[in-house]
Amino acid sequence: MILGKYSFGIGDRFGQQGRAQVGALLQAKRQGLDITPVWNKSHREHTIIGTKPADTRREADDAVKACGWDGPYFVDADHIGLKNVDEFIESSDFFTLDVADFIAERAEKADVNAFVEKHNRLIGSLEIDGIDRTLEVSDERITVIASQFLLAVKQAGKIYRHIEAVKGTGDFITEISMDETDQPQTPVEMLFILAGLADEGIPAQTIAPRFTGRFNKGVDYVGDITQFAKEFEQDVAVVAFAVEEFGLPGNLKLSVHSGSDKFSIYGPMNKALKKFDAGLHIKTAGTTWLEELIGLAMAGGDGLAMAKEVYAKAVSRLDELCGPYATVIDIDAERLPSPEEVERWDGQRFAEALRHDQLCEAYNPNFRQLLHVAYKVAAEMGQCYLDALAKYEDTIAQNVTENIYERHIRPVFME
Ligand SMILES: [Zn+2]
Repeated sequence: MILGKYSFGIGDRFGQQGRAQVGALLQAKRQGLDITPVWNKSHREHTIIGTKPADTRREADDAVKACGWDGPYFVDADHIGLKNVDEFIESSDFFTLDVADFIAERAEKADVNAFVEKHNRLIGSLEIDGIDRTLEVSDERITVIASQFLLAVKQAGKIYRHIEAVKGTGDFITEISMDETDQPQTPVEMLFILAGLADEGIPAQTIAPRFTGRFNKGVDYVGDITQFAKEFEQDVAVVAFAVEEFGLPGNLKLSVHSGSDKFSIYGPMNKALKKFDAGLHIKTAGTTWLEELIGLAMAGGDGLAMAKEVYAKAVSRLDELCGPYATVIDIDAERLPSPEEVERWDGQRFAEALRHDQLCEAYNPNFRQLLHVAYKVAAEMGQCYLDALAKYEDTIAQNVTENIYERHIRPVFME
């Protein structure tokens, strides 16, 4: 199985917006742009919502059928490890092997030495196409990188072989993720991580490094944009080099996690993709759930009442809901509107506070981030919530499609 040059991770918490999501990709297709849809859902999301990987598979199959989507599509077991991969194996054909937890663990000295010896031809001033300065690689540098990353890479090998034994060689897509860690990885570190993945025989088609800056859920990038742009370009260049150097799959590309809503870096990403004629996988998940709330609010009546109820409950359970996401949200509780104030809002006002339009004065990133992590509240409403989604499907679908196409696909891949 081969993942196309451009692919889009369209997470969908409640599994009801598949058709609206495919609608955005069909819109791109009509403009001559092929983007492969990938439905990603992590163990954490499944647990909080009470869904199973088979539900995601069903949604994906139904959505592509209903929309007449005739291109490839995948179901991503997002951020899995040896502990939870088995529940995903049957339904998924895309596996994101998360080995971030193993980065901190030191590798065995003998393994490190063997790695350094194997790759010592790269020692010196390394010239890589598209990077204007040389990358300096020393014996010591490789040793430090290997002791930090080798165990994670070997763990990825274990998970990969476990899946391969069940699904068969070549019958699934492999992504490696190292993004859920504190320290960003430099382009040189990524080069040797890729060397290690090749040594393990992992045919990775995408890799998600931890980039510089903050990738908070549902809001824009926070960090030095110039620095990000430089690093992203170098990462793209390193990936192309590693494909040749280590014999990794020719379609290997970067994957950007928590990729929704990062409007200020889409320009630099777009530029780098064009400059290197490179591919990209971008993962978005929670953004569709927020469009459901926007659609409910705009529909008015009991839709708006439900959106307000979700918010009021979220405020009263702030610590509980934010806990699992503590490292990827920044909510200033002082700036959250009170539930009493929100109760007085009309649908338009609610939608404006929530919709990610930085030019709109009513937009409130604190309100948006809290609701981003509040999907558990809607999950607890159970059938009531799903019924509301069905009742206001048209308004919601319009928002879902427009958000993906206008605010994400166009700036990342087109403009
Ligand atoms: Zn991730």
